[in-house]
Amino acid sequence: MAQLGAQAPVIPLTRLDDADADLLAELLDTVRRVAATAQFTLGEQVESFEAEFAGYCGTPHAVGVSSGTEALTLTLRALEVGPGDDVVVPANSFIATAEAVTLAGATPRFADVDPGTALLTVETARAALTPRTRCIIPVHLYGRTVELQPIMRLARERGLVVIEDACQAHGAQMSARRAGAVGDAGCFSFYPAKNLGAWGDGGAVVTASAGIADRVRLLRSHGERQRYHHELPGTTARLDALQAAILRVKLRRLDDWNAARRRVSTALAEALRDSGVTVPPPPRPGGDDVVHQFVVCTPERDRLRQHLADRGIAGAIHYPVPIHRTPAYADTVRLPVAEALADQILSLPMHPRLTEEEIGRIADAVAEFGDSRA
Ligand SMILES: *Cc1c(COP(=O)(O)O)cnc(C)c1O
Repeated sequence: MAQLGAQAPVIPLTRLDDADADLLAELLDTVRRVAATAQFTLGEQVESFEAEFAGYCGTPHAVGVSSGTEALTLTLRALEVGPGDDVVVPANSFIATAEAVTLAGATPRFADVDPGTALLTVETARAALTPRTRCIIPVHLYGRTVELQPIMRLARERGLVVIEDACQAHGAQMSARRAGAVGDAGCFSFYPAKNLGAWGDGGAVVTASAGIADRVRLLRSHGERQRYHHELPGTTARLDALQAAILRVKLRRLDDWNAARRRVSTALAEALRDSGVTVPPPPRPGGDDVVHQFVVCTPERDRLRQHLADRGIAGAIHYPVPIHRTPAYADTVRLPVAEALADQILSLPMHPRLTEEEIGRIADAVAEFGDSRA
């Protein structure tokens, strides 16, 4: 809790305060206007957001739902992936990717990831296939896009569907197509800490398929097309009108925020180049990734995390236990890359408003850590 502690404010991992005065005024005005309509679920705000988000992603359809987890679960159900079916998911992801499979009644089959990118690859996906596999869920983790073309080819050969988990990759592009727009469907979360975040929970499914969109729409609201005409057993998983209205305001700023995150990421990577920790790989050629987390790698991760914490710099681990090793799944499959990464990864502060001064403090602290080892 050294020297700096007294003067230097803590550098948080992210900032969710929407403290920009113009933005805050616009958001509060939006909330007031929605309150005046007293239309709190679905309705005009949700329909407008769906049209705008579909336009942004370049897909014919977007369906607003209550979370990223529901987006994934309802998409699986819409595709009739369920009991008796296996679904390939990467072991290095947020647990929700696997939970959605479980909630749909299917079985997650955990796949390893690439050591350089921490992402699912066609090879690691192939190794996890079983005769019962119906679906593959690539995750664009940390905002970095999975190389989807070979995975799409594998899926087409085997008659499988592909659902993109784009919950960390709003606005990322792959060969001029947005993350979420390449697979059979793409799923998004608007949890506040995501690159596009609501003031609460929310999610969306984007797809080119009118059939998938229609079924997700039915499932999110009790199988109703018309009030009290239940075509199938669904659930309560609608996007709130207030969240949709807030998301409409924030969507217009997403590209600017993603550009700012990229600038921060480039500056951090440059500042840490000779620090002895492994910085994230540069974006894939032909890809245009976004940055959700800035994840460095070092065998001395726990010491580095403490070193930074002592200097008022937040760090987090995404994720400390690979999903197959969590008590929730306790799967005995061995996935050496995901298991090794979990002990070495550390997410540093990353958000669009990180200042040059803060980047400098982070770089100095990491450099000092490197020197202490030398
Ligand atoms: C956030 C996230 C989810 C789940 O989204 P929620 O809105 O929290 O349900 C799923 N997958 C990944 C990769 C995520 O980061």
